[in-house]
Amino acid sequence: MILPACADEVAYYYKNNLDILLLTGDAYVDHPSFGISIIAQLLKKQGYRVAIAAQPTKSTLRNYPRPNLLVGITAGNVDSILSNYTANRKIRSDDKYSSGGSPGFKNNRNRPPRATIVYANWIKEIFKGIPVVIGGIEASLRRFAHYDYYSDKIRKSILADSKADLLVYGMGESQILEIVKRVEHQGPDFDRSGIPGTCYLQSSPQGKILPSYEEVVNNKSGLPQAYKIISQHSHPGYSSILSQQQDSRYIICNPPALPVDTVKLDEIYGLPYSRTVHFLFKKVPAFEMIANSITSHRGCVGNCSFCSIITHQGRIISSRSESSILEEVDIITTLESFHGHITDVGGPSADMYGSYCNFNSQIGCGSRRFCLYPKPCLNFINQPDKYFQLLEKILSHPKVKKVSIGSGLRLDLALRHDQYLKKIITTYTSGMLKVAPEHIAPQVLEVMRKYQPGEFEKFYTRFTKLKKEFKLRIQLVPYFILSHPGETESDLELLSRYVKKNRIFSKAIQDFTPSPLTRSTAIYASGINPDNGQEIYVAKKDKIRKRRRTKILNKKP
Ligand code: SF4
Repeated sequence: MILPACADEVAYYYKNNLDILLLTGDAYVDHPSFGISIIAQLLKKQGYRVAIAAQPTKSTLRNYPRPNLLVGITAGNVDSILSNYTANRKIRSDDKYSSGGSPGFKNNRNRPPRATIVYANWIKEIFKGIPVVIGGIEASLRRFAHYDYYSDKIRKSILADSKADLLVYGMGESQILEIVKRVEHQGPDFDRSGIPGTCYLQSSPQGKILPSYEEVVNNKSGLPQAYKIISQHSHPGYSSILSQQQDSRYIICNPPALPVDTVKLDEIYGLPYSRTVHFLFKKVPAFEMIANSITSHRGCVGNCSFCSIITHQGRIISSRSESSILEEVDIITTLESFHGHITDVGGPSADMYGSYCNFNSQIGCGSRRFCLYPKPCLNFINQPDKYFQLLEKILSHPKVKKVSIGSGLRLDLALRHDQYLKKIITTYTSGMLKVAPEHIAPQVLEVMRKYQPGEFEKFYTRFTKLKKEFKLRIQLVPYFILSHPGETESDLELLSRYVKKNRIFSKAIQDFTPSPLTRSTAIYASGINPDNGQEIYVAKKDKIRKRRRTKILNKKP
């Protein structure tokens, strides 16, 4: 059942006796692709009375009764700066997580910029003294002093700016259950220490000390140095507590929580989601895109420098069992909106379902090396057969006519298995196959920690051959990132020639967006390689980025 998401529903269903209020910057959709729905259903299963305040205003929040335990806050499935501003800091004209895809008005956005901070300040004012816990991707990525591309400045940890009591980073299921239990038994002054995957503020440092906020602001190498230590300590089972001074206090960041295993993941995806949009909202594009798709796993072993998924979900792959996924297929096929097409079965990258590390399947090897870069590690076990068996079983469901792979594919994994690409393009692609080579120039690929040079060309040749052989009407859509750190004028020239020769869609070429807490952003902000302290060229000025875009799209400047 969908949970109460307005004051009238809280009065009707709970007689105003509410335990936990959860705020989100997304429209409320009760579906496991929306983080807040997972947390809400999980807490409800434990017996708590939970309500949602989706895209709230200060006045709608005033109508809710004071919760007995705590308020949880997330900006939603996307960072609120990224959802409000383009890579070039222009205001966006859409928000796929809002009704009708509308972001609201210029000065009254459905999801306000810096939503976590805005919501936390409202709650602190309305429900004085109540414990406030922030989480989700925005809180995760902004937990330390970080570069903010909109203001082009280093900002303090979001914990300091929001004045929240606790910050949950990564996927937050185990953390939130522990926090709620502590508040229930210890009251609002609960012990905040020692919960893996959380951060809090205190007056003294602990564990390994990062360059302070002041040092990150005033010293060019502060951010890359901090990034290096954070990335070394972002592996469950191999990490220390980290501290970073912000003014007179310290952010204490506990080591990451262990990723959930198959049993827990099955439980999470088996919760009774109604798979509907709350009546206060309608036609949410992000939901319409994923309503008939299935998450098969979490985590990504890719380690791409620009990607925040690995920072948020981690690199240990947690896969659901086949039976749990098939049960979800049964549910989806009963929905009114289902017309026979399962539009995706995947995760951050489709072809990692069932993958694991042979060295240590639970926690991998820490920061010793990368699973796929520069070459796949011998301990990395990829199981395409398991993935295709699953897809075949879904396809054999009497009500399923088509199964597509909508999640991205790793080119290097697709090239590893001969029959793999053939199956994908002959059976599991509908119209377009999206891949992300990201660039062509070897030195940019190296900064990105992406594929080996020439890998995309190999993939393209094989794709074209198969397309001809099976007379298929499908199109390969490769995505590229423009103005990524390390891209010089000659790299741009190389990419530009390639794009023109192969008539790449302009929409598939995107400007680099410096999301907080990625390696690429540390390089973008400082011009320094965090690994060795060497300088890297960065096209940072708006004018240069604009000229590059104009050139690649072959428009007159
Ligand atoms: S041992 Fe290899 S597969 Fe395992 S976590 Fe390390 S790099 Fe990845």
